[in-house]
Amino acid sequence: MVKQSSAYIDKDQILHDMISSNRWGTYFGVSQKVLDQVWDSLTAPEGNSVTYISMEIAADRDAFHPIKSRLLDLDISGSTNPLIDQFVKDFLHGLEKIPNYGGGLGVLAGDTLKSFADCRIPVVAVSLLYRHGYFSQMVDSRIGQISWSSEWEPEKTPSIYALHQADDPQSELRIEVPFYDEHDRATSACARLWMKMEVNNQLNYFVPHILLDFHTEESPQWIRDAAKNLYDSSSEKTKIIQRRMLGAGVIPAMKALGITSRTIHLNEQHGVAVILDQILDRLQQKYGEDYTQRATDQDIFAAAEEVAQNIVFTIHTPVKAGHDRFDKNLYRKFIHSFYHRILDLLAEDRDNHNNFNFTSLAMRINRTTNAVSRLHKEVTKKQFPEFAEKISAITNGVHHLTWISDAKAELFDSCSEFENWRQDPSVFKHGASLLDNKRFRAFLESAWKKDNFKLITYVNEMLATHRTMMQETWIDPPNYLSNLDIRDARLQPDTLTIGFARRFSTYKRADLIFEDIEELLKLVIANNWPVNFIFAGKAHPADEPGKALIKMVIDVQEELYRKSNGLAKLVFIPGYDMAIAKMMVAGVHCWLNSPKRPLEASGTSGMKSALNGVPNVSIMDGWWGEGYHEGATGWKFGYEDPVNLDTLSENRAELLYAEDSASFYGIFAEIIDNFYNPEKFCTFIDKAIMNIALNSPRFNTHRMAAEYLSRYNLDLAGPLANKMAKLKDNYDSDHK
Ligand SMILES: *Cc1c(COP(=O)(O)O)cnc(C)c1O
Repeated sequence: MVKQSSAYIDKDQILHDMISSNRWGTYFGVSQKVLDQVWDSLTAPEGNSVTYISMEIAADRDAFHPIKSRLLDLDISGSTNPLIDQFVKDFLHGLEKIPNYGGGLGVLAGDTLKSFADCRIPVVAVSLLYRHGYFSQMVDSRIGQISWSSEWEPEKTPSIYALHQADDPQSELRIEVPFYDEHDRATSACARLWMKMEVNNQLNYFVPHILLDFHTEESPQWIRDAAKNLYDSSSEKTKIIQRRMLGAGVIPAMKALGITSRTIHLNEQHGVAVILDQILDRLQQKYGEDYTQRATDQDIFAAAEEVAQNIVFTIHTPVKAGHDRFDKNLYRKFIHSFYHRILDLLAEDRDNHNNFNFTSLAMRINRTTNAVSRLHKEVTKKQFPEFAEKISAITNGVHHLTWISDAKAELFDSCSEFENWRQDPSVFKHGASLLDNKRFRAFLESAWKKDNFKLITYVNEMLATHRTMMQETWIDPPNYLSNLDIRDARLQPDTLTIGFARRFSTYKRADLIFEDIEELLKLVIANNWPVNFIFAGKAHPADEPGKALIKMVIDVQEELYRKSNGLAKLVFIPGYDMAIAKMMVAGVHCWLNSPKRPLEASGTSGMKSALNGVPNVSIMDGWWGEGYHEGATGWKFGYEDPVNLDTLSENRAELLYAEDSASFYGIFAEIIDNFYNPEKFCTFIDKAIMNIALNSPRFNTHRMAAEYLSRYNLDLAGPLANKMAKLKDNYDSDHK
C-alpha cells in the first residue's frame, strides 16, 4: 500500500522489525516496540482499555491483508533467517479465508477492530473459535441451498497464533470454564487460547483478537460438539452452551493474559454471561467464600448496578429471532443455582415467565445502550420503553481500507482533494468540488468500468466452471444460464448491473423485485435494454423460509430470460463471503436493498457500495434513512410511514410485497432510462461523486469508532483524543 522504491530499502532490517515476541508467543507483522506498547496498555493497572466481545468476528485476509501487501510491495519472498523465512512464506501463501462468521454482525465486528487498530485505540477482542466455522454453501437448481460443514485449520492460517503458556513454548495456554449440572456439580470445559492479530495498514499498531477454542481433549464431548459450528441451532441446548462458552470464557481469558480492561463492550447480547462472573466477583469480595449463603437480593442488585457502570451494549436487531430467550429449567442444567438466582432477579422475560431473556438482561446491565441507526434507535426505544432513556444511536460504518476497490483506490490516490484518505476518510467530503471536474469524471467512469469488468469476468468464469461441473458430477448448477449455449450464456460488461447480496431471511425479501415480472421488464423489452441482476447470500441451514427464498430466486431465472428474449439475466453466486462482497459492491451500477421497514436495523453492504461511488436503490430502512440525500446519492422506494410495534411483523401477509414492489418498478424505469439514455448518464456519475462526498466521510468505521470512544470513557493522550474528536465531527448519529 505504501509505495516505496525498493532500491533504497534494507529488506532484512524491515523484516527484522516485523518480528516480535512476548511470554505467550512469537508473532509476525509488527515490531517489538509496537507489541510491547499494545500489551502494556492492555495490562496496565488503570484498566484504560476496552474488551470487545462478539460471537463472530470476520476479517478474511483476501479482502484486507496489510502484512502480505507490505511484502508484495517490497517484493520480498523470503529471508536467510529460517524463522522469518517461514513467516514470509506463510503470509504469502497461507490460508486467507477464515469461515468463522455468518454475516453482517461478524463483518461489522471485524471492520470495527480494524479501525481501532488504525486509530491506535487500546482494545482487545474475545470471540470463539469454531473448528468447522459457519457452514459452506453450494446451490443446486433443483434442491436450492445445500449446506455442509466448513473445514478450516487455524494452524495453517497466518496471523492466527496458538498461544503457549507463559515462557513455556511446549505447552498450550488453556483456561477452564465451569459448567454445572442441576445438583451444582461442576464440570470443567477447557479452552485453548489463540490470538489473531488485526494489524493496521501501517503495521504500527494492532488489536489482539483472542479466540477461545473449546475443542480440546480435556473438554467433555458435549462441549466439543457445541464448539464446532457458529450459530449451531440444532438444539436449544447447544445454543445455551455456545453462549455460555463465550460469556463465561471472557474473564478467565483476560486473567490468563493479565488484561485489565475496565470497559466491556458487548457486541450483541450473546456474551452477556460475562456480567454474571463480574457480579459474583463483587459478592465474593464482600462476603468471602460463603457469599452464596449470605448475599441478599439487595446485594445482588447493588453489585449488578456497579457492574453496569463498565458495560457498553450494542443491540443489532429488532427481529425477535435475534433476541436470546431460554427455558429456565433447561438453562439450569448448565449453571450453578446461584447464577440461577441472579438470572431470576435480572433476566425476566415479560412474555413468558418460564424463560430467561438475555436481551433484557443485557439491556438492563449496562451504562449505555446503542442502536445501530437513527431509525433503529426509535424502534428499540419502543421495544424497550423502560430503558428508553439510555438508548442512543451510533450508526454503523464499514472499514474503508477493506472495501474500496483497487481501481477506486487508484482514483483517490490521483486526487489532491483526497490526500491522506487512507488515514482520514473525512477528506472525502471534498468530493463535491469534483462534480464539474471533467478529468475526475472520466477517471471515475473508467474505474467503474474496470470494477464492472472484473465482476462480469468472474461471473462468466463461474458459469463456465459450473457447466463443466454439470457434466462431471450430479450437481445441477444454480444458474439457468449454465444450460444455454455458451455464446448466449455470458454476461456482457457495461450492461446495467443490479447487485443484491446479504443473508437470506424472510424480512430481507430477496425476491421482492420479481413479484411482477411483466412490470419489471416493461422498459427492458420496449427498448431492447439489457440488464444483469447478480445475487448472492446464504440462508442459515435451519432457516427453511430463508432457504425457500434462495430457491425462488433460482427458479425465476428462466422466466426472466425467456420473457425478455434473453435481455434480462439473473445470476446467483454461491458461497457469499467477503471477497465476493468486495467484488460485487464495487462492480455493479446499483446496489439493491429491499427489506421490510423497519426490520433492517442498519445494513452495511450499501455503505460498501457508497464508498465505491456506487448508488444504492433501497427501502428507507436502516442506514439508508441517513445516507439518502434527496436523490443525490441514489434512489428510495417503498413504505416510509412512521414505524411502531405493529410494523415489526414478519408474517408473509404483512411483508408489503405488493406495495413495495410496485414502488420499485417506478424507480427502476427511471434507473434504466438514466443509464442507457446518453443525455442522462451523467446523473449516474453525479450520484457516484455525491456518494463519495456525502456518505464516505460518515459511514466508515473510523467515524464509528470515534463515536464509540465517547461512550467508553477512555483516557487518551491529547493528540489522539483530538484526532478522534475530529473524526467524530463528521457526524452525530444520535442527533435529536
Ligand atoms: C457486508 C457483508 C454482510 C452484511 O451486509 P448487509 O447489507 O448488512 O446485510 C454480510 N456478509 C458479507 C460477506 C458481507 O461482506
